[in-house]
Amino acid sequence: MVNPGIFEQLGLRVIERGWLSSNNVLFRSTRGSPATLIDTGYDAHSEQTISLLSAQLGDEALERALNTHLHSDHCGGNAALQARWGCEVWVPEASADAVAAWDEDKLSFRATDQRCRPFNSQRSLRPGERLRIGTHDWDIIAVAGHDPDALMFYQRDSGVLITADALWEDRLAIIFPELAGESGFGAARAALDAIEKLEPAIVIPGHGRPFSGVADALQTSRRRIEQFEREPERHFVYAERALTMFHMLEHRCRTETALVVWLTETPVFRVLQDRLVSAQSNASDRATRVIDRLVNDGLLKRVDDLISVA
Ligand SMILES: [Zn+2]
Repeated sequence: MVNPGIFEQLGLRVIERGWLSSNNVLFRSTRGSPATLIDTGYDAHSEQTISLLSAQLGDEALERALNTHLHSDHCGGNAALQARWGCEVWVPEASADAVAAWDEDKLSFRATDQRCRPFNSQRSLRPGERLRIGTHDWDIIAVAGHDPDALMFYQRDSGVLITADALWEDRLAIIFPELAGESGFGAARAALDAIEKLEPAIVIPGHGRPFSGVADALQTSRRRIEQFEREPERHFVYAERALTMFHMLEHRCRTETALVVWLTETPVFRVLQDRLVSAQSNASDRATRVIDRLVNDGLLKRVDDLISVA
């Protein structure tokens, strides 16, 4: 169990979100730091994000939004928060050029067909930098694997580590470079080693509750990476399911015809299809198989030509 008193001392509050949106970590303003949010959720949830933040902030304005990485579920609220409070947005240095040029190919939104309204970034977050957020200083640490540009935030006095998608309590996030035909498992292993070295007392993940059983979480993630390295196809299947469920949770209901087209045309799946060793079958057979499995597992339901979230 995580003692919430530690978060209070750090002047932060974790707003744990459900599907589609990442958690939000909110810091009230202090003498040395403006009111700051780490990660802003998914665009479709922006209104909910603003009302959750308003309830915490009261009359205070949000002045700064920091992103651990630029996946749509972590930065999708940026535009809405800028419109509401005129806050600055700080992004990982490695992603800054792609944001400045608003290059949706580099930013992954086109590959996954996920939404993110364009936003402006005022400043980059540099690995190795120390930043005052809330009442304390936080170290900014590069953490590739899930996303090559990603960062985590570490508060060394309290041992609180904000890992975003580099470490979850009981699952492993998709290792995105592998889907694009680049290597990512090695970097993901190195990320876990780096986390272990910090000996964090408490991890605030991007999804799920904050946790203190860091050794168990590391072991679970390492086992999963080993399994995926042995059988990369399992990672592809896992990614295919997770991305399809993300899409369905956003759209709730689609005709099967449309969903098959989406599963064959969306760029991330076209690359996957080319890389799947056993995928001698064509793309629409593969798409139908993905849907069948999710229906059989009770995650989706099918009524005539309509597929919806179960
Ligand atoms: Zn992510």
